[in-house]
Amino acid sequence: MNRFWTLADRPVPAWPQPDTFELREEPTPTPGPGQALTRTIYVSLDPYQWGYKRRGVEPKGSPCHARTISQVVESRIDGLAPGDFVFNTNGWAEYGLMGEGVPRPGYMVPRRLDPSQGRISLAVGVLGMLGLTAYAGMTLQCQPRSGETVVVSAASGGVGQIAGQLARQRGARVVGIAGARRKVAYVRDELGFDACVSHLSPTFTEDLAAACPAGVDVYFENVGGRVFDAVLPLFNPGARMTICGLIAHYGDAGGDAGAAERSRAEARGVTVHNLFVGDFVESHHDAFLAEVAPLVATGEVRYREDIREGFEAIPAAFADMLRGENFGKTLVRVSDDPTLAAAE
Ligand code: NDP
Repeated sequence: MNRFWTLADRPVPAWPQPDTFELREEPTPTPGPGQALTRTIYVSLDPYQWGYKRRGVEPKGSPCHARTISQVVESRIDGLAPGDFVFNTNGWAEYGLMGEGVPRPGYMVPRRLDPSQGRISLAVGVLGMLGLTAYAGMTLQCQPRSGETVVVSAASGGVGQIAGQLARQRGARVVGIAGARRKVAYVRDELGFDACVSHLSPTFTEDLAAACPAGVDVYFENVGGRVFDAVLPLFNPGARMTICGLIAHYGDAGGDAGAAERSRAEARGVTVHNLFVGDFVESHHDAFLAEVAPLVATGEVRYREDIREGFEAIPAAFADMLRGENFGKTLVRVSDDPTLAAAE
């Protein structure tokens, strides 16, 4: 049987509650021509998945959507054999099909992974969509220059830690914003940001201004709300900003927080970029990997994962991430990763 998590049949709350998801099972599917059956190893948990649920994108009763790292069990796809590792979109399910006719977002193209190129889990993180998101927003859109001040919110998270390090690579002075003290210390001491302040501090607004004595030239927005309120007065003439995400608003009942933020920033003369990573997959994925993969391999770009264990842990890990109780890119290992034993 194939176990999966689905949205329970009740109104979707502002933020996930213990009874928001329910566990179901159905017979494990059989691959048709041009399809493969895969066993999920890692489920990637990402803030946008809550947006899918709030907006009713997912059909009720189907497995919750997620990008996954999986191993092929049975294949009717040329060039894909049992035992191969793949990036695909099994969702919050123990097994899933990939290949012809399997629904998925158009830009999430399944592909075979080469475990000799690095940990397979990185393909949903720094060497996948999250790394490309940081690269597109920071390197392509905001283009930080040497000596400029760059601010990154949710700086210890999956996207933020990469965005800040890419700006450092270009000689900018980088200031992170994070929550808990251990995250602030990690961003400053291990990722090498020039400073990091906590949005949980009662003196957050003053702390941020003090950390940016020359103002802000680039802001990489992951959060919104009062974090943006603190950045706004600090923008310099010629400043650029990418609205990557607005996690503080993902429980809002309505309104367009992105449009409101854009107009407030533009009123101060800031050039504002919206970002959708799917727009960059075809055009920039290869250039991004060519630049970032070697930096990850040598340790020049560091990357922290928060890997929870067990299929049952998915809903709680997801709620934790939305509350900031993750520390690094959030994944759940739902079955054995044979590449770990091979690496030991
Ligand atoms: P993270 O790993 O950064 O996890 C979310 C983090 O957000 C938390 O750890 C917490 O960090 C912070 N946070 C949550 N709520 C608040 C709040 N109310 N105020 C301040 N901080 C908060 O997630 P990702 O790196 O995966 O995603 C970061 C952002 O990038 C998200 O907004 C996501 O939607 C967006 N994104 C956008 C894409 C695009 O195409 N535009 C693609 C991928 C991601 P802390 O404890 O430090 O506050």
